[in-house]
Amino acid sequence: MTENLMDHQAQLAADYWTVGNEIEDQKAPKDLPIDKIWSERKFTAKLVNPANRRKMKVIIVGTGLAGGAAAATLGEAGYHVENFCYQDSPRRAHSIAAQGGINAAKNYRNDNDSVYRLFYDTVKGGDYRARETNVYRLAEVSANIIDQCVAQGVPFAREYGGLLDTRSFGGVQVQRTFYARGQTGQQLLIGAYQALERQVAAGTVHMHTRHEMIELITVDGVAKGIVTRDMVTGKIEAWTADAVVLATGGYGNVFFLSTNAMGCNVTAGWRAHRKGAYFANPCYTQIHPTCIPVHGETQSKLTLMSESLRNDGRIWVPKRAEDCDKDPRQIPEEDRDYYLERIYPAFGNLVPRDIASRQAKNMCDEGRGVGPAVREVDPDTGAERMVRRGVYLDFSDAINRMGQKTVEAKYGNLFDMYKQITAENPYETPMRIYPAVHYTMGGVWVDYDLMTSIEGLYCTGEANFSDHGANRLGASALMQGLSDGYFVLPNTINDYLADALKREPIGQDHPEVVAAVKEATDRINTMLSINGSRTVDSIHKELGLIMWEYCGMDRREEGLKTAIAKIRELKKVFWSDVKVTGVNEDFNQTLERAGRLADFLELGELMCIDALHRRESCGGHFRGESQTEEGEALRHDDQYAYVAAWEFAGDGNKPVLHKEPLVYKAIELKQRSYK
Ligand SMILES: Cc1cc2nc3c(=O)[nH]c(=O)nc-3n(C[C@H](O)[C@H](O)[C@H](O)COP(=O)(O)OP(=O)(O)OC[C@H]3O[C@@H](n4cnc5c(N)ncnc54)[C@H](O)[C@@H]3O)c2cc1C
Repeated sequence: MTENLMDHQAQLAADYWTVGNEIEDQKAPKDLPIDKIWSERKFTAKLVNPANRRKMKVIIVGTGLAGGAAAATLGEAGYHVENFCYQDSPRRAHSIAAQGGINAAKNYRNDNDSVYRLFYDTVKGGDYRARETNVYRLAEVSANIIDQCVAQGVPFAREYGGLLDTRSFGGVQVQRTFYARGQTGQQLLIGAYQALERQVAAGTVHMHTRHEMIELITVDGVAKGIVTRDMVTGKIEAWTADAVVLATGGYGNVFFLSTNAMGCNVTAGWRAHRKGAYFANPCYTQIHPTCIPVHGETQSKLTLMSESLRNDGRIWVPKRAEDCDKDPRQIPEEDRDYYLERIYPAFGNLVPRDIASRQAKNMCDEGRGVGPAVREVDPDTGAERMVRRGVYLDFSDAINRMGQKTVEAKYGNLFDMYKQITAENPYETPMRIYPAVHYTMGGVWVDYDLMTSIEGLYCTGEANFSDHGANRLGASALMQGLSDGYFVLPNTINDYLADALKREPIGQDHPEVVAAVKEATDRINTMLSINGSRTVDSIHKELGLIMWEYCGMDRREEGLKTAIAKIRELKKVFWSDVKVTGVNEDFNQTLERAGRLADFLELGELMCIDALHRRESCGGHFRGESQTEEGEALRHDDQYAYVAAWEFAGDGNKPVLHKEPLVYKAIELKQRSYK
C-alpha cells in the first residue's frame, strides 16, 4: 500500500471505525502438525462425568442441521437441552431447502481425494481468508458425517455397485459431493430430526417451537440465558441455562431478495453482538450464480437452481448483443460464447461461485444478457435503465449425451421446479439464470471450540464465521452444520460445562434477567407505538436495494459511503415512521418482521463498514479498486490476511475492529487461479 493510500485508509478509519487490540484463538493446541490438533484438543478438553450431565442445562437456539444435530447429540450424552425454533416444527428449519449435496473426503471415486485435499480446496476456495485449524478439522470429520447419516437411513444416491454415488461441485476437480437427488438438505434434516425426536421422547430435549429468541441474558459478561417471544400468544419469557448455543442460520435476507427462506434473520446473532459477541467478516456474502432471475418489482423471494446443475449444464450468452432477443435454439454454436469455458479452461463451468457470479454480471453489463429486461436505477446518476439480467444454462449437450431419462433421474425435481416458476420447459429450451444472494460466510466470531467472545455462548453452523473464509465452496455448508452439531460442539462444550456446577445458578428474579426481559418488552412496545406511514416490507425492500447496489457483486469506496449514509437515514425512518399493526399478545407477523428488520438495519451498516475497510478483493468480496488487469480479484495478503472481528461499542459509536491474524503453516498463500 502506498503512503497516500495508507493516509487515506487512516482517514476512513477515523470516520467510520476504531481499531482495538489484536485477538487470537486460544483453544487450538499450538505447535502441532495440523493433523494432530483436533485429537489433542479432544484429549485436553475437560470431561463431564455422565452422572453430572443430567444436572446441566444447555439452551440451543435453532433446529436446522447445526442446532438439531447438536441438540440430539447433547441429549444423547445426557445433558438437559432446551431447544428453540421459530417454525412450527424443527423439521421446517431452512436447512430443508438445501438441494445439491454434502462434501466428504471419502475418495470413493479414487480420484486422489483426501482429507488434506478437502482442507486445501476449502482454504483455497475461501480465498485464503479462513482459519487453517478449523478447516482442517472440518475435512477430518467429514467422512464421519456420511457414516452417521447412512446409519440413520439417509437415502443417499448410490452407484451401480451399491456404494454411495458422488458428483462434482464448483471449485474442485474431484467428485466428493454426496447427494440425495436435489433434496439433500431435506433428507439430512429428516435424519437429524429423527435423532432429535428420539431425545424429545426420552425427555432429555425439551422442544419449544414458535419461540423466537429476542434477547441474550449475560451476567458479568457470561452467557446465562435467553429471552423469547411466544409467536402465538406474544408471551415474553426468560430461560436460564449453564450454556447457550446459537445455531440460527445465515443473514442473507438483509438483502431482502435472496434464496433464503423468508424467515431467515440475524436477530439471535445480532442481539448477542450487542451484548459483547464479536461479529466477524460481515461483508463476506455469497452470491450464487445459478438462480432464477428476478422477474418483477413485487417479488419477495428468489429461487436457487442447485449448483449441481453446472456439472452437466453449459453456461453461455450470445456473442453479439443483437442476438440476445432470439430464441436460443436458433443461435448456432459458433455464435455462442461459453464464457466460463473460454476464460477458465481448467475448471470451465465448475469455477467457484464468486467467479461464476461476477462473470455473469460482466456479460450482462456488456449488454449480452438474455431474457426480459428489468428496470434498474443507475446508482451514480439516478437515471432509470432497462437491463437484461440472465445467462443461459443449457442441457442440450447433456441430453444428447446421456438421454433425457438420465438427466431426469439426476435433476428431475430441479427441472420441475424451474418449469413451475418460469412456465418454460428446460428439457427443450435452456434455463435462464442469474446470481442471487445465497449464503453468508461472515457471522458471529468463534474460537476453535466454537465459543464466541462471550464466555458460555457458542455459535454453530451458518450463523458463525468459522470455516469458509471469503467464499464457501458448494456442498460445504451442510458439511459444516453437521460437523459442528454432531462432532465438534459435543466434544468442546464439555470443557466449559465441566465447571458449571461451581458457578452460581441464577433465577428469574436476577436483576440481569429482569433487565433483559424489560429491554425486549420495551423494544416491542416502542415499535408498536410508532404508528407511522411506512410498511415494514417497504423499508426492508429499500434496505435490500441499497445493499445489492453498493455492497453486492462489485463494491467501491464511494458506493459504500453512500450506502452507509442511506442506511443511517433509513434507520431513522424506521424508528420514526414505521407502521407495525396489531398487538403483541397475538400472532403478529408484522411485529416479527419489524423486530428482524431493526436488526438487519444495524447489520447492513456494519457490513458496509467492513466492506469499506477491506480494500482488497477476496472471494465473494470484490472491491472494484482491487483487481488484476484481467479483472480478477486481487488480494493484498500483506495488509488483510486477518479475520475482521467487530465489537459493538454502543448505539451511535463507531464499531471497534479487532484483527485476528490468519497464520498459514500448512498451506502456502497463493493468488487463486482456475485457469
Ligand atoms: C436454496 C438453498 C440451497 C442450498 N443448498 C445447499 C447444498 O446443496 N449444500 C450445502 O452444503 N449447502 C446448501 N445451502 C446452504 C445450507 O442449506 C445452509 O447453510 C445450512 O442448511 C444452514 O444450516 P443451519 O443449521 O446453520 O441453519 P438453518 O437451517 O437456517 O436453521 C436455523 C434455525 O435457527 C432457528 N432460529 C433462527 N433465529 C432464531 C431466533 N431468533 N429464535 C429462535 N429460533 C431461531 C430457526 O428456526 C432454525 O431452526 C443451501 C442454501 C439455500 C438457501
